[in-house]
Amino acid sequence: MIEPLSSTVRLRPEIVALAAYAQGKPADSDAFKLSSNENPFDPIPEVVRAIAASSGVNRYPDAAGVELRARLAWRFGVRTEEVHLGAGSVSILAQLISAATGPGDEVVYSWRSFEAYPGLVAVAGATSVPVPNTADDRHDLSAMLAAISERTRIVIVCSPNNPTGSIVTASEFADFMAAVPTHILVILDEAYVEFVTDDSAVNGRELSGRYPNLVVARTFSKAYGLAGLRIGYAVGPEYILDAARTTSIPLSVTEAAQRAAIVSLDHETVVLERVHRLAMLRDEVWRSLVDQGWSVPRPQGNFVWLATGASTAAAAELFAAAGIVVRPFTAEGIRISIGESQSVDKLLKAAAEVVRTLPTPRFAPALD
Ligand SMILES: *Cc1c(COP(=O)(O)O)cnc(C)c1O
Repeated sequence: MIEPLSSTVRLRPEIVALAAYAQGKPADSDAFKLSSNENPFDPIPEVVRAIAASSGVNRYPDAAGVELRARLAWRFGVRTEEVHLGAGSVSILAQLISAATGPGDEVVYSWRSFEAYPGLVAVAGATSVPVPNTADDRHDLSAMLAAISERTRIVIVCSPNNPTGSIVTASEFADFMAAVPTHILVILDEAYVEFVTDDSAVNGRELSGRYPNLVVARTFSKAYGLAGLRIGYAVGPEYILDAARTTSIPLSVTEAAQRAAIVSLDHETVVLERVHRLAMLRDEVWRSLVDQGWSVPRPQGNFVWLATGASTAAAAELFAAAGIVVRPFTAEGIRISIGESQSVDKLLKAAAEVVRTLPTPRFAPALD
């Protein structure tokens, strides 16, 4: 018999370290939950009906999701094989990272960016190479290129960037792709692309078939308001998506999710009208924040970023006291989702209160 060295089960230390990561607080019943970039609108009636009508949950879903994939393929001008579905695009990111990396391999991404990236890379056993954002909270693409090494397997570009809201332009992205070696997978994470109103922004739909090493990841969680159903998709070269499919947990995209996504595409005008309203509200909030004196990057997702620096924890508490649950990133800043229009007054009052009572770095004189 082997003598145990310790009485606790041996776990991977990098995983144990991740588990210590703190989660955002749930909202009180009368507070606005603006901490998860969710869509504030109730699902459209057609989606509710589609979920109710999807066939018995005693049966497994269509593993291939062919109908939805064909629909998405048609819009992107690609073959069905070049579209992959996942239970949220985060699960597709996890699959791609597992498919392409392991111990000793590196994944380059901008930082601060999506909080899931470091965890997904660690779970794959690979190494994160975070590249600091520029002073104006954008991806530093030339620094990201310079961070590519022999060991790099993946570069993730997030546009609009969560949590700073900034975009990568189409021409910046084209220059970047021209410089990245084609054996490195580039993932363009476009979770918020539907909210973009800046014409210069990169758009993965216009890049179909152009690059042999590009996968575009999108989701129905944000603009389409299906976060709770878990459905996202990726578009890219078939052999890369096949590798992602190989790493996936089978049958995790439910039939209800597939039906709801199809119906959302059928009724896209209604859905995109809501997206448009949120984008307008976002721009109003942004203008008011700039008027208060905040130096806020021009947001292109469904959220705004306040660089509150060392005041972040105290500022988050001020927002919470005002009935606004935000997402604080320790000593860096606060991300606030654009939600119910009734939340805006409270949000702006709390932001003004932060300005009055806390030292706020990156605070510029009001523009005319
Ligand atoms: C929300 C989000 C996703 C996708 O989330 P899912 O709900 O898993 O589809 C992907 N990337 C970023 C940057 C996000 O903010």
